[in-house]
Amino acid sequence: MYEGDIASVLLTEDEIQARVKELAVEIASRYPVGSPQGDLLLVGVLKGAIFFMTDLSRALPIPTQMEFMAVSSYGSSTSSSGVVRILKDLDKDIAGRNVLIVEDIIDSGLTLSWLMRNLSSRDPASLQVVTLLRKPDAVRTDVEVSMIGFDIPNEFVVGYGLDYAERYRDLPYIGTLDPKVYEGDGGM
Ligand code: 5GP
Ligand code: MG
Ligand code: MG
Repeated sequence: MYEGDIASVLLTEDEIQARVKELAVEIASRYPVGSPQGDLLLVGVLKGAIFFMTDLSRALPIPTQMEFMAVSSYGSSTSSSGVVRILKDLDKDIAGRNVLIVEDIIDSGLTLSWLMRNLSSRDPASLQVVTLLRKPDAVRTDVEVSMIGFDIPNEFVVGYGLDYAERYRDLPYIGTLDPKVYEGDGGM
């Protein structure tokens, strides 16, 4: 698939799956079963977090429920501006629930910072974040990320949900793109 487009593999399928299982153990230890807040509510951020969300939820040894939100942050396809628009909101009220945001990647942290403020205002019992990937710039944000899968270098990555112009999400691993893919499309 995508012959010649991937310059290097950063995280193999096995590495990702092993880390997802570790994160599931960590998450389960933080949320006791049978709490008055009910089942843990996973809030997946579309579309990048879909594979992480489905793998994580199945690896978790505690009951969870799922909600999805889609947001678009204005900016180019490779960086965000922090100005966020809701494309798809949650279907259910999260007041009084234990909410865990499931994110694909934190780069500037602007998207997540906005999302935290937005979801906090809906009065959840608790609000934490798990992200599969974190880039170096994320240290500059005010957002406290509870759990992180991998710290990665400041490179644009695709695969396991992450896209470039909607392509490559279906790769089971995470890799960097060959520069020839960007060439000639003006930063799109
Ligand atoms: P932030 O607001 O933290 O700068 O950006 C977060 C969003 O930017 C991510 O949810 C993702 O959509 C996009 N993004 C940031 N870095 C990458 C990357 O390396 N690869 C891909 N495919 N998307 C990225
Ligand atoms: Mg995201
Ligand atoms: Mg994208």
